[in-house]
Amino acid sequence: MFDTHCHLNFDAFKNKIDEVLIQAKTSGVDYILIPGTDIVSSRKAVEIAGEHEGVYAAVGIHPHHIYEFQISNFKFQINLEELEQSLKNDRVVAVGEVGIDRHSYGKTKYSDYEVDEKFIDLQKELFKKQLDLAIKYDKSLIIHNREAKEDVLKILKEKWDPKLEGKTVFHCCEPDGELLKFAVEHKIYIGVDGDITYSKEKQSFIKKIPLDQLVLETDAPFLLPEPLRTQKKYPNTPSNLLLIGKFIADIIKVDFDKLTKITVENSLRLFNLDFNHVKGGIFA
Ligand SMILES: [Zn+2]
Ligand SMILES: [Zn+2]
Repeated sequence: MFDTHCHLNFDAFKNKIDEVLIQAKTSGVDYILIPGTDIVSSRKAVEIAGEHEGVYAAVGIHPHHIYEFQISNFKFQINLEELEQSLKNDRVVAVGEVGIDRHSYGKTKYSDYEVDEKFIDLQKELFKKQLDLAIKYDKSLIIHNREAKEDVLKILKEKWDPKLEGKTVFHCCEPDGELLKFAVEHKIYIGVDGDITYSKEKQSFIKKIPLDQLVLETDAPFLLPEPLRTQKKYPNTPSNLLLIGKFIADIIKVDFDKLTKITVENSLRLFNLDFNHVKGGIFA
């Protein structure tokens, strides 16, 4: 299996990377992509990917973390320059996670945090700039959208480049017909996570996703799937992709091995990875 979105770069996995990777491999997870959310976690993603076979990195500034740039335009510029530099590293296969997030988070490190139009405008500006970087360096694109479908689709329509076709993913895709329609028309992959085990909306949405556009993700350490969620077995880990895959195979009535094969091939295509080169994955 391929966990296409796993934050091994977060503190929840500090000093536990080897242990977590062994568990993942034992559960049948051969490949992992680590997305960046700010400059520090992007650096960490590149570092971990550089040390482990089968593990790849994406670099990017998550829309929520653009908040700190409101007070420092200088920081905005130097962060963007550093991101651009790291795209020259061949373990970095994508720009992400980037996009627009209108959700108002209760728990955040920003003391005066508020989602207003000024903040959204800055999110839009940085999303466009990072999207341009993906095109310029021929990298894949990992899109984070939360409660901002209109904004995201508007920007994608305006900035779409054929290079992004087949190399973009709506990570943790909201169950929405319009997003799916756009994804089908532009060959954008749809990322499905462990919340499908308890979201009825997502359970009916997945039945509409073409199999050749489906990729799996844990979003670990977040989105712990059931029954672990009820058992409060935090944090989520990449090995739980097995639970997610089995749950999905069951509800869309596709043989689990077939689902694994198809989603791994989709993920390798999404991140432009050479099938022969990556054979074996983690610890190969
Ligand atoms: Zn996200
Ligand atoms: Zn994420």
